Amino acid sequence: MVIPIVARVSEKVIIYYAGTVYENLNDKGITGVIKMQRDIKKIISQMTLEEKASLCSGLDAWNLKSVERLGIPSIMVSDGPHGLRKETTDPTDPGKKTTVPATCFPTAVGLASSWNRELVEKVGAALGEECQAEGIAVLLGPGTNIKRSPLCGRNFEYFSEDPYLSSEMAASHIKGVQSRGVGTSLKHFAANNQEHRRMSVDAVIDERTLREIYLASFEGAVKKAKPWTIMCSYNRVNGEYASENKFLLTDVLRNEWGFEGIVVSDWGAVNERVKGLEAGLDLEMPSSFGIGDQKIVEAVKKGELPEEVLDRTVERILNLIFKAVDNRKENAGYDREAHHKLAREAARECMVLLKNEDKILPLRKQGTIAVIGEFAKRPRYQGGGSSHVNPTIMDSPYEEIKKSAGNNADVIYAQGYFIEKDEPDEKLLEEAKQAALKADVAVIFAGLPEHYECEGYDRQHMRMPESHCTLIEEVAKVQPNVVVVLCNGSPVEMPWIDKVKGLLEAYLGGQAMGGAIADLLFGDANPSGKLAETFPKQLSDNPSYLNFPGEGDRVEYREGIFVGYRYYDKKNMEPLFPFGYGLSYTTFEYGDLKISRKEISDNETVTVSVKVKNTGDMAGKEIVQLYVRDIESSVIRPEKELKGFEKVELKPGEEKTVVFELDKRAFAYYNTGIRDWHVETGEFEILIGRSSRDIVLKDKIFVKSTVTIKKPVDRNTLVGDLLSDRVLEPVFREFIINEIKNRYLLDLLENEDKSLLSVWMRYTPLRSLANSTGGELNEEKLNRLIDTLNANIK
Ligand code: BGC
Repeated sequence: MVIPIVARVSEKVIIYYAGTVYENLNDKGITGVIKMQRDIKKIISQMTLEEKASLCSGLDAWNLKSVERLGIPSIMVSDGPHGLRKETTDPTDPGKKTTVPATCFPTAVGLASSWNRELVEKVGAALGEECQAEGIAVLLGPGTNIKRSPLCGRNFEYFSEDPYLSSEMAASHIKGVQSRGVGTSLKHFAANNQEHRRMSVDAVIDERTLREIYLASFEGAVKKAKPWTIMCSYNRVNGEYASENKFLLTDVLRNEWGFEGIVVSDWGAVNERVKGLEAGLDLEMPSSFGIGDQKIVEAVKKGELPEEVLDRTVERILNLIFKAVDNRKENAGYDREAHHKLAREAARECMVLLKNEDKILPLRKQGTIAVIGEFAKRPRYQGGGSSHVNPTIMDSPYEEIKKSAGNNADVIYAQGYFIEKDEPDEKLLEEAKQAALKADVAVIFAGLPEHYECEGYDRQHMRMPESHCTLIEEVAKVQPNVVVVLCNGSPVEMPWIDKVKGLLEAYLGGQAMGGAIADLLFGDANPSGKLAETFPKQLSDNPSYLNFPGEGDRVEYREGIFVGYRYYDKKNMEPLFPFGYGLSYTTFEYGDLKISRKEISDNETVTVSVKVKNTGDMAGKEIVQLYVRDIESSVIRPEKELKGFEKVELKPGEEKTVVFELDKRAFAYYNTGIRDWHVETGEFEILIGRSSRDIVLKDKIFVKSTVTIKKPVDRNTLVGDLLSDRVLEPVFREFIINEIKNRYLLDLLENEDKSLLSVWMRYTPLRSLANSTGGELNEEKLNRLIDTLNANIK
């Protein structure tokens, strides 16, 4: 509620309302008020130093402060990415905190597996509506940190191991929420890829890796969707806390990416308040109980902090507050049933069919179906920590399966294990086997209990509880038709995979996951999710394995850019399930790949199109993936990188053309020398795939760089480098022929002599040519050669 403030200024009645000044004209014989322009700069000029500093931190855990005398209201922010977690007091016990009921949608790992931008945007819009209904100005999410290791305790809250997919999903989420006049907080910026020592660890990352992988995941979302706020992370990045990292918060975020919102600290992430403010951290959350504000006041008074820096931050915070107020919809509400339905629709698209031997799925709605595993009645549908939602409605997979199966099927249940216990229970195992024996098919619910993965700590291994694995193995001994449904937030090892025929990765599917699972198991819906992460066969295959979670407070990202499939591809390692993989009940055929131009410059775009046809007998959706491969490069690059994807819906027999547009970034790598994205002139392959490991079509394009990177020639330049430089090679050749006339060099220039000496000569620096030319290239000639070469570098 915004309270209007009335003041009398030189005979005029001035009303301040939400930072807007209204002048009451009653005294002039006119009824009503006229709205004057909101002048934020003027408001700031009327604020005391203390008031300005006070705006830079929270009032409490979730509210910003107000300045009532100037009509600046307080606004409220709340978690979290896949559902609203608004804290309130428990109506049954006023001393206790609870959270308001809200729709729990699938968590980010699931949303990303849908690869469906429109769907994620729709979920975002629903989240925005729930925020409006609860008076929330900013939803604290989405989280777009890269999944560096399968062990990170918050992987379920993050989208992908691939920065492009991750940033596209984040952008859709943001667009959706913000379309309803509610802000988002893209988090956790940056390099917060583990929970272990999250508030002190220093993520040491080389700049190319940081840019291409970890920052790229934020960059696309910031540029495309313009989140109202960004939340900085707890950790340090290359020695500096993210909360006071000028490189991240100002140089990259604002100056390079054009971010115009506010930067808010993760809850408790502030180290030195004044340093943070100078670096670009606007809002400290939650309340620092005046400590941070006091530091700001003192620094300004002592002349250590220019007041303009504070004013700049206050202006941004006021912009946020007024934007929220202007977009506030009084008396907003939402349709719980409709949102639950959307949660089910989303969950269906988030689940990934990983195995379907003998077409065991979809199940027939007849015979006896044994549903086994306590998760079938108490599903793990969301993750633990700040994103934990109090669902409005909760579906039970078992009940939904029974409902969907109808009257012709007999659905029986066995508990199989105790969720809270890792060790197998003999009695429950025996009951499960008996149920499986009676049935035509056994559907086992297994995965990771909440105490395995949660915000605040990482997993120690990638195994499922022994009780789950043993259950699968034992049931498979008595029942050949086993389908496993997994409820987990990130990859697990599957020693039992060869013993089961069907595998549905349901992830943490939200409150309607029960219904979605039933829809998919019986074929009432067709699975259409694909993995947004690689499932390695075993933890030690993962590229970060040797350096995760680091030593003490230092974690070095030594695998560099080779994260996820970029690593498994390069190493030619067979994962359990590759990035981008997922099955359907129908089949798709690809054809007619077209690239609009065979050659472009790096400042031009190119259109790629491909036809996809549903060749099966069920309607379905296919995720068409486009990867780019640099055929020859002077820098080390991944085998291929995802640069486009589209999800298309096709009826049986239907064919559609899928179109992608590629620009410079699709071909570029980050060049740390010029500190910019750079395309190396040459040929690139455009690869169209069903997954990262199932490339079905490819073609080539030549991309010409408009930027020439020239390293000046000096005494240590290698002969071989000059010979392979299109511009310098003729200059060098001419100089040698005219001025040196040395046999070895001339042989080398003839380029026919493959003798060892010639090979050696290629790795010889210019300064050493004096030795190998019997002194013919003396210092005077050497300097002249260097000058001549440099004169030819443009
Ligand atoms: C989490 C954030 C969350 C905040 C507020 C922090 O511990 O890292 O993701 O938004 O708490 O609950």
